[in-house]
Amino acid sequence: MEFVSPAGEQRYAALVRAAAESVIGLDMDGTLSPIVEDPTQARIHPDARDVLVDLSRQVRTIAIITGRPARQALALGALDEIGDAMGEAGKELHVFGQYGNERWSSTNRRIVSPRPPAGLGSFLRELPALLRHAGAEDAYVEEKGLAVAVHTRRLDDSRAAALRLEGPLGDLAARNGLGVEPGRNVIEIRSPATHKGDAVRTIASETEAGGFLFAGDDLGDVEAFTAVGDLAGDGLATLTVCSSSDEQGALRHLADVVVPGPDGVLDLLRHLTDDARA
Ligand SMILES: [Mg+2]
Repeated sequence: MEFVSPAGEQRYAALVRAAAESVIGLDMDGTLSPIVEDPTQARIHPDARDVLVDLSRQVRTIAIITGRPARQALALGALDEIGDAMGEAGKELHVFGQYGNERWSSTNRRIVSPRPPAGLGSFLRELPALLRHAGAEDAYVEEKGLAVAVHTRRLDDSRAAALRLEGPLGDLAARNGLGVEPGRNVIEIRSPATHKGDAVRTIASETEAGGFLFAGDDLGDVEAFTAVGDLAGDGLATLTVCSSSDEQGALRHLADVVVPGPDGVLDLLRHLTDDARA
């Protein structure tokens, strides 16, 4: 792993000391699951189960914080099985779906979610005309219940299409009281009220955390990094981890540690487990 600064190395050491009272917050796609062409096939890394179960014994709790619907994250991550194994170790796995709009935990196995934001219906009705107008009628529109994701990955000029769509989608979203979240070849439209930073603050306060590690790879993780920075200001031991890729470099500058993709994230978590046990 590559510490961005000597301060990052010191933060890691402090987190190791505070491990028993720390929360491990993890994004899913690009962090625990390799990015693949078809987002419905983005399965969790085969080593993730063993790594997370081992780690759970050394920390207070683990929270998966993802933009995906909780139900989909549970299926693609086999998270209920991981939660079972963690339960045997006396620990709980939390899942925050749709940026924290939905919650699931391995001890309360029901997905709790609020109603869809009010403007989503009219946004969806106007969306096809907008896509046609932008020459992006073949974009894949994923209705996520509480949000809509417009995927440009399968278009010929994926990046150009995403850039072309960002402005008009932002305008249409704003007219309907919604916000946009640009990601890797995807633009997500959702309630502007919730982001991963809220999930970070919620789980930190619920568990009275004394430490917090968050790992992510994309723009949707920026608010989580910011929230972790606030926790550091409150005196918690914290570490921000960027799972890096060629496609998305934005998070690198904000992170204490940069690791190469999901393999690197799992390696770091293995190290943390060993160091916390020692
Ligand atoms: Mg991600």
